[in-house]
Amino acid sequence: MAGGALAELAKRRGFFFGANGAYGGTAGFYTFGPQGAALKRNVEEAWRDRFTRKEGNREIEAPTVMPEAVFEASGHLDGFDDMLVECGECGESSRADHLVEDATDFEDAESLSGGAVEDLIHEHDVACPSCGVALAGRDVENFNLMFATDIGPGDAHPGYLRPETAQGIFVEFPRLKEYARGSLPFGITQIGPAYRNEISPRGGLLRLREFTQAELEQFIDPETDEPPLDRVADVDVRLYPADEQAAADGEYRDTTVGEAVADGTIGSAWVGYYLGVAREWYERVGVDMDRFRFRQHLAGERAHYAADCWDAESEVGGDWIEIAGFAYRGDYDLSKHGEHGDDAFTVFKRYDEPKTVERATVDPDMSVLGPEFGGDAAAVADALETLAGRDPGAFEGETVTVEIGEGDDAETHEVDADVANFAVEETTENGEHITPHVVEPSFGVGRTVQTLLAHAYETDEVDGEERTYLALEPEVAPRDAAVFPLVTNDDRLVELATRVADDLRAAGLSVAYDDSGSIGRRYRRQDEVGTPFCVTVDRDGIEGDGPETVTVRERDSAAQVRVPVGELAAELATLRAGGEFVSLSERYDSVETDVETTTN
Ligand code: AMP
Repeated sequence: MAGGALAELAKRRGFFFGANGAYGGTAGFYTFGPQGAALKRNVEEAWRDRFTRKEGNREIEAPTVMPEAVFEASGHLDGFDDMLVECGECGESSRADHLVEDATDFEDAESLSGGAVEDLIHEHDVACPSCGVALAGRDVENFNLMFATDIGPGDAHPGYLRPETAQGIFVEFPRLKEYARGSLPFGITQIGPAYRNEISPRGGLLRLREFTQAELEQFIDPETDEPPLDRVADVDVRLYPADEQAAADGEYRDTTVGEAVADGTIGSAWVGYYLGVAREWYERVGVDMDRFRFRQHLAGERAHYAADCWDAESEVGGDWIEIAGFAYRGDYDLSKHGEHGDDAFTVFKRYDEPKTVERATVDPDMSVLGPEFGGDAAAVADALETLAGRDPGAFEGETVTVEIGEGDDAETHEVDADVANFAVEETTENGEHITPHVVEPSFGVGRTVQTLLAHAYETDEVDGEERTYLALEPEVAPRDAAVFPLVTNDDRLVELATRVADDLRAAGLSVAYDDSGSIGRRYRRQDEVGTPFCVTVDRDGIEGDGPETVTVRERDSAAQVRVPVGELAAELATLRAGGEFVSLSERYDSVETDVETTTN
């Protein structure tokens, strides 16, 4: 499928288009039109159903603007950079690592240093994509992707638009753990906008400056919490592990989640569990599984704290794009906020049985230390305490040696063991404070929408005419159904069609009503926006003695059945929830059409 044709359809039929066109457009910002907004909402709802409700997780909504301290702690202020090179001729800014990847065999230029990328630009005569002038000799700079703002008047309180929804979850952990009654594991989700001042936005919804993420932070006790791997052990997955990517003739590993975790291809059972859940979810919403894979991060791509990382990738327009990331993040996030924030980013882990532990203590006699060490007395007392915790054996002799101060100022002192008042006390502990580990599935909603459209785009021939249609799953299609009166010059048909549309809407379905143009044109219009079922009111349905009937046409096969009006809403709701159209064909009369479809 040509990307251009889909982009044209997306704009013409109201899926999405570049924002602020009346003001010349703003690169990196897209508006979802009525069809696209409905499709996106349905994708979000399907995600919520699977990753929040079915997992027993809870969803929150945190602010999109956060103070600087959050991003100091998270590492974004220092490290959330892309490599930028600016053309000396036309001033165009480009992603230096992407230019190098396009011009060389490097697949992972992001992991190189700025200097190495400068050298590669020089060696490979990389030119500005805008004006074609060589970029050799230009500096490669680190450009921070966060949008900065001021919180309140003046500049005393810098803030940033969040570059990922995750931080809003981590920052609120001290409260969220209370709602989970302090017990692990628990999962918190969030769906919402994230902002990144991308150097070169591109590819429709693929690289935007404002986009929607759906993220799950699963908090676990790494020692005891296991995922319910059995539920997805048999799910087939196509993996592209790091070693296969590195090999010249690297291949996919087609396996199951259970096997891949057992043989260590997937390093973390939790990551494996979510790859399985995600694989099933993507299939449910309509991603073509022949154009889908899980790619493991290469060593250089992975954050230093992340033990195992995989991306879900889909093929769109000939390229593989990252549509979600799955990372085992260890205790990195909560530890970082724990260092900076006042609140406890830990949970209290109760032991099965209370433990008796021995603790070495000192109670230095200050009436002796004071006169002996003067201004250093307090430091000597502190040093004794530290030493007792670290090396109780040091107190066995008659004197104890402690060091105070650092570097050139370091001094060694001898203290009588008696003066230290060393003792070993037995205490009973009921548990300990641990920092939970985090497993993070992070989905891009826009990239999922773009994938669904690309994978649903089909052309075929119906009634000898070429047609384009979107084979979207009923669960995510912008409309559940469309209702047409066959002709508009018969009041009885118009009246019934209006009533049918009203009834379906009252039953909670999203319904289009269309009475303009030939019936064939109306079908084509709905086919192009992926409406799965078209309901037509004709004379055969209202004449005769039986109950009123309408025809229901299925989008992909163009097959039609005649359904009583009274049963229509329930039938359509069942189809939307995943029911098969053939079950209608078995129970109701087919309507003969001379339709022939051939999918190209
Ligand atoms: P990351 O935190 O970079 O792993 O991003 C998580 C997910 O957000 C990715 O898998 C993408 O689907 C999506 N994403 C990241 N950056 C962008 C962007 N600039 N535009 C659209 N989606 C994005």
